[in-house]
Amino acid sequence: MRFAIGDATVDVIVDDDDFGLPLAEFLPGYDRGLIEAHRATLEPVFIDLARGVAKHAIQSFVVRTGGRTLLIDACIGEHKDIPEIPAWHRRRGSGFLDRLRASGIDPAGIDVVFCTHLHVDHVGWNTRQDNGRWQPTFPNARYLFGRRELADWMTQHDAGRAPPIHARALEQSVIPIVEAGRVDLVDDGHQLGPGLRLVPLPGHTSGQMGLMVDYAQHRAIFCGDAVHNPVQIFQPDLSTSSCADPQLARETRTKILAEAADSGRLVIPAHFRGPRCAHVRRDGGGYAPVLDARHG
Ligand SMILES: [Zn+2]
Repeated sequence: MRFAIGDATVDVIVDDDDFGLPLAEFLPGYDRGLIEAHRATLEPVFIDLARGVAKHAIQSFVVRTGGRTLLIDACIGEHKDIPEIPAWHRRRGSGFLDRLRASGIDPAGIDVVFCTHLHVDHVGWNTRQDNGRWQPTFPNARYLFGRRELADWMTQHDAGRAPPIHARALEQSVIPIVEAGRVDLVDDGHQLGPGLRLVPLPGHTSGQMGLMVDYAQHRAIFCGDAVHNPVQIFQPDLSTSSCADPQLARETRTKILAEAADSGRLVIPAHFRGPRCAHVRRDGGGYAPVLDARHG
């Protein structure tokens, strides 16, 4: 699956294309009437209303531009201890690296790995198991972690306050990269190249960042988990139960949607299925996604 942003190509490498979460638990406060009104847009790809399930993909975006190859978010990985999610626990044979190679991308050819934030489903392929040790999966890459994001997680981890699922992700998929000397800590506003800028998207985690792409009239934002599901475009005040600060997440989401609607910016969240991305238009007092199959 490939789409373009100006001269850049974006390959979508899926690690899990059918990750369902109970609507009522994951999106508490969801407006059932609003979902019913937009059922034709949301079903069956993003929602199963009868079963009460919100449906997501776990995927990486590989951006090739200006002679460089950038991988955004590193998904689940293999052999990781994730007992909370049995399908991900010590899994193997996922085919993720085969799909990467089938898209013409060698792991050794990845120049930069950027994790929007350090949750378990965004860091997994940072490392792979090699003789019982965690080694960088992408041997020639620099790994970009938000300075504030890493500091906050390490503080929680060292105090024993990080939820176990994320503490283990730090130990297996983040700290080995730090110890291998492969990390560049980045701050808001960091430029990855012409037209490529990291921006703060706080709320889901305190230090989440997105990648803003501005190539003349071609605009996009890789926004991580600032938006999880198109339901939140119809209902922007709807934060998830996995958001650290739901109110701040709401403010961040609303800013992204307003700017996208005004500028024509393509919104590329980490977990959209279907076309994997959306344009946004104003709709009454709110917003609606424009899910353009050309991007699928
Ligand atoms: Zn996520």
